[in-house]
Amino acid sequence: MSPASRLAGREAFVVGSGPNGLTAAILLARAGMVVTVLEAQPTIGGGARSAALTLPGFTHDLCSAVHPLAAASPAFAQMPLADYGLEWIHPPVAAAHPLDDGSAVTLVRSVDATADGLAADGEAYRHAVAPMVARWPDLLSGILAPPHLPAHPLLLARFGVYALPSASFVFTRLFRTAGARALLGGVAAHSILPLDAWGSAAMGWVLTLAAHAAGWPMPRGGAQQITAALASYLRSLSGIPARRAGVLRPRAARAAANCGGAPAGLVLPQAGAIPPGTGRFQSGLGAECADSLAQPGVRPRRHGPPVRNARGD
Ligand SMILES: Cc1cc2nc3c(=O)[nH]c(=O)nc-3n(C[C@H](O)[C@H](O)[C@H](O)COP(=O)(O)OP(=O)(O)OC[C@H]3O[C@@H](n4cnc5c(N)ncnc54)[C@H](O)[C@@H]3O)c2cc1C
Repeated sequence: MSPASRLAGREAFVVGSGPNGLTAAILLARAGMVVTVLEAQPTIGGGARSAALTLPGFTHDLCSAVHPLAAASPAFAQMPLADYGLEWIHPPVAAAHPLDDGSAVTLVRSVDATADGLAADGEAYRHAVAPMVARWPDLLSGILAPPHLPAHPLLLARFGVYALPSASFVFTRLFRTAGARALLGGVAAHSILPLDAWGSAAMGWVLTLAAHAAGWPMPRGGAQQITAALASYLRSLSGIPARRAGVLRPRAARAAANCGGAPAGLVLPQAGAIPPGTGRFQSGLGAECADSLAQPGVRPRRHGPPVRNARGD
């Protein structure tokens, strides 16, 4: 009997309706399980939520806003999320880092155009990035998987040489200019690790490679659209014979009380089955998010096309 057929008809509870919880629920529902997603908050979506917080006509993301790894996600690639309303907006500039002299360095889709903007560090950037961009699908499947025997050990080893040390170590040795160091260091800071911590270079490389391979898109309508598409797709699975879809319960206070402090997206085989030690789980470091109302037509220094605001105008 295949693993999927062993799951069919059994009941599962997914704690947390963030993007990971909904993705887990969809995979379980597709395996034929009867899935219930439990959510403590009044609205579903976890970090992928949006709301009208300021002026009329503006939608603000409450947490995540730009989604390179959603666009590159092998899990999302297997789901018909476009059919459920998810549309990606690709800005012409993924990221820009202003420098003290008033100029800026920019990360764009093209490796060559990005390297050209890094002056004396252009060749070092190209040398580091281009081979990994060329093998991006193989590299991504290697780094997203749990510990395993790698299918592409040399590629993963190359990535490890660049990614395992701290961001400050790698980017000050690899680059000479403030621009290249600032660009990669700023991208690495997304991990919320201190930049002198081991492994803090990794997120800098992953997001930079993703910018070249898949872009740094945002969902039209805000991050909530990721949640809406995942939830709609999850509900639709109930229409498939022998496969039951998840039920979204916006206020699951009982689950929140039972497993407070549990990792988000925890999948329980049955209600109340909290694995030992789950209650001691420590969440990661917090982060601040600041929103502003952007005027259309803001232009970066080095690359011509106007930067779009959150609505894609
Ligand atoms: C400030 C900030 C900005 C970010 N910006 C980006 C970005 O721009 N792009 C990007 O890709 N990522 C970004 N991230 C990271 C992104 O938000 C997370 O990686 C993503 O939300 C994780 O999804 P998740 O499903 O694992 O958890 P979450 O999105 O955190 O969802 C967890 C859900 O579980 C619920 N929950 C928890 N415990 C219980 C319980 N006991 N009972 C019931 N429900 C429970 C919570 O209420 C929540 O709804 C950002 C993170 C932060 C903090």
